Amino acid sequence: MIAYIGIGSNSGDKKKYIRDALEKLGMIASILQCSKPARFAPYGVSDQPDFINIAVKCETAFEPLALLDELLKIESDLGRVRTYRWGPREIDLDILLLDRMVLYLPNRKNPLIVPHPDMHKREFVLKPLCEIAPEAVHPVLRKTVRELLDDLIADTKG
Ligand code: ATP
Ligand code: CA
Ligand code: CA
Repeated sequence: MIAYIGIGSNSGDKKKYIRDALEKLGMIASILQCSKPARFAPYGVSDQPDFINIAVKCETAFEPLALLDELLKIESDLGRVRTYRWGPREIDLDILLLDRMVLYLPNRKNPLIVPHPDMHKREFVLKPLCEIAPEAVHPVLRKTVRELLDDLIADTKG
């Protein structure tokens, strides 16, 4: 399965958290491609430090729910402290796309929704992702990542 994963940090040594997350991700998946780290203003709750975000393409043998568990484990191994929704975090790993799968599993202790439900609204997701996968297709919106990013930029300008 090809997975696109978004990784972000806005607390502590952000670059180190991202490097460490990549190293741990490399132990559960083959990393095929990785965007440059980019700096973004915080999303949702603005009174907090900037984020560094990257997007990663990897190949993994884990099933989707097992992959989610592995990513949550990487977050806790790296010492993520959960505060409030969209609050500052040492490290965040989100599943953006999994092949062309559509999954809606909201009623679990750890819900899983793929594609990530807000990815098309977030420049900090789409910009890094567009660098490595402009032609990847969002299976619900039926648009490429490049189209989603163009739409988003047009929206924020309009
Ligand atoms: P957002 O999901 O809006 O980016 P967040 O990343 O801050 O917010 P978290 O606190 O990291 O949210 O995660 C909350 C829960 O989101 C996780 O426990 C996980 O079960 C769930 N979740 C649902 N869909 C996904 C997905 N595609 N990737 C990662 N987590 C997901
Ligand atoms: Ca997130
Ligand atoms: Ca998350």
